[in-house]
Amino acid sequence: MNILADRAFKGLEIDDHRSHLVKYSGHFKGYNANAKYNSDKVEFNLSREWKRIDDDIQIGLIQSLIVKILKLKRKKTSQMEMYENFMKNLSKYAKKHEFEPELEESFNRVNERFFNGLMDKPNLVFASESFHKLGSYDYSSDTVYISTIFQNIPDEELKILDYVMYHELLHKKHSFNVKNGRHQSHTKTFRDDERKFGETAEQELTNWLRKKKLRKWKFW
Ligand SMILES: [Zn+2]
Repeated sequence: MNILADRAFKGLEIDDHRSHLVKYSGHFKGYNANAKYNSDKVEFNLSREWKRIDDDIQIGLIQSLIVKILKLKRKKTSQMEMYENFMKNLSKYAKKHEFEPELEESFNRVNERFFNGLMDKPNLVFASESFHKLGSYDYSSDTVYISTIFQNIPDEELKILDYVMYHELLHKKHSFNVKNGRHQSHTKTFRDDERKFGETAEQELTNWLRKKKLRKWKFW
C-alpha cells in the first residue's frame, strides 16, 4: 500500500481494493508518469523528478492518471488543479532558453546595431501556428515568436527578418509602458524608435510580402 496512492483514491471517493504502488523511476524524462494495472494492483510509475515535489501535487498527478484509467468524466479535485497549474508553469519555465540559431543570429545583429549589445536575449522561436502574424512578443515568457515564412531566408533578404526582429524587440524594450493596466502596443515613442531602422524599412517589408503574395500579413 502506498499512502499517496491511497489518498489519491480516497480524494476521488473511489473504493479500490487492489494494492496501490508508487514507483519512482529514472526511465522517464522530465515529469512523465504512467500507470499500469491488473485485477490485483495498480502501479503508478513516476519519473524521479517527482520525488522532491509536494505531496498534494503528486496526488493530483496520480488522480489524473486514475481518472484516465477509469475513464471518469468531470472528476476534478483541488489536488488535480494544483497538478495542472504546476505543469502549466513548468512548461512556461521549460520554454526558457529556447533559441533557434537563425533567429539568434538575427537577434545578435539587431542587438549590436540598435541596442549597443545591451538587450537581454529573449527566447527566440519560430511560430508555425501564427496566422498572418509576422512576429509577436510574449511578455509572460519573454519570447519573440517569428513566423516560419522567414525560415531559411536568403542572405540578401536578411534585412527583412532583422526588421521584424527589431520590431518585436521594441515590444520587449517598451514592455514597461503600461497604461490602465494594459500594454501600449504601438505608441508614438515606439514608432519613433521603429523608424531608426531606416525610413524605407517598412516599404521594403511591404514589397517583400507582396512579392511573396502575403498581403494579409501583419505585425502583432
Ligand atoms: Zn507590434
